[in-house]
Amino acid sequence: MTAPLRPLVRIEGDTLVVPGLVSAHSHAFQRALRGTTQRAAQTGTFWSWRDAMYRLADTLTPETIADISRRAFEELRASGVTAVGEFHYVHHQADGTPYADRTALADAVIGAALDAGLRITLLRTAYARAGAGRGPEGTQRRFSDGSVDDVLRDLDTLRTRWKHHPRVRIGVAPHSVRAVPASWITALHADAKAHAMPLHMHVAEVQGEVDACLAEHQRRPVELLAELGVLDARFVAVHATVLASHEARMLGEARAFVCVCPTTERDLGDGLPDLTALRDAGARLCTGVDSHVLSDPIEEARALEMHERLRLRRRVTFTPDRGRTPAEQLLVDASVHGALACGWDVVNGDRETSWRPSTRINLRARSLADVSRDDALDGLFYSGSAACVSGVDDAAE
Ligand SMILES: [Zn+2]
Repeated sequence: MTAPLRPLVRIEGDTLVVPGLVSAHSHAFQRALRGTTQRAAQTGTFWSWRDAMYRLADTLTPETIADISRRAFEELRASGVTAVGEFHYVHHQADGTPYADRTALADAVIGAALDAGLRITLLRTAYARAGAGRGPEGTQRRFSDGSVDDVLRDLDTLRTRWKHHPRVRIGVAPHSVRAVPASWITALHADAKAHAMPLHMHVAEVQGEVDACLAEHQRRPVELLAELGVLDARFVAVHATVLASHEARMLGEARAFVCVCPTTERDLGDGLPDLTALRDAGARLCTGVDSHVLSDPIEEARALEMHERLRLRRRVTFTPDRGRTPAEQLLVDASVHGALACGWDVVNGDRETSWRPSTRINLRARSLADVSRDDALDGLFYSGSAACVSGVDDAAE
């Protein structure tokens, strides 16, 4: 028996109550780069921006990563986010030596999210190499493990340590097809399956990654992942910017999630994913703040549609499922899809109607003040922002 559908939103006085917003892909420490990468020619591409990010990663300590992350998470919560998927990849000391407590940095980041009042899915990232045939270089030693068994052990530690905390989930994240060999991806997928954990992975963010994958494997990234048997309803492809159309179909057929991070992708000049192909194929979209260049989950959701309008040069680019309005679909993408992608239970499962936390929108906010109650959700997603958020509700379980 399927439980009766709950309405997606409700109005209480001057407040619009929506399912809790979720940011499914975050690297909280990158918030410290704000304002520092917008001028110099040396940060002109994804790869040169990455050099600046590595210089920051070099300096992190358990204390500073906790402080930066706490500020990032407090801002997310104030902008209406109730849960974050933290793709955490700085694990070891600067020279690559593990801390005495190997998961010290992951635990510090989890603590920061809890302090800020967020739920967190800590996606323990696996990183092995600079690229095919090249070991980790420079800063990458902080991210890297000697063997996949080290990663599996840390996952076990984290699961044991946090299993009774109602606001913490653990997931696994092979960094990308560039940074881990195929054998690691299959081993990590087996662990994710055995423990019903989400598996997140950067997929085809930039053309260089696709070219390197073709050179090493003679396959494009999603072709390789399909062949390894890791595409399923717990798989979350982050970015998916440079896909061939049959790769979008493969993700859709698997009912995989695609986490788009529009404010970061445009900041880095990555390009525009073909969201129409992904939606048509049945992939479930969600969104992520990624680099924290901007913290506004309403803007992230809006960009799913607005960037697609620019790419296609037309308005209203998709027909939502189940008779929803486009704004209702953007809300599902920004909340319930993100919750599912991060391993949280939702009401009605695949029917995706709600989940426990909620986000409150102030209908008297300046940008919504003249919008009729009937159009409130359209007003929020097409003309509002995080400034319309008046708070979140997430009662203890
Ligand atoms: Zn990322």
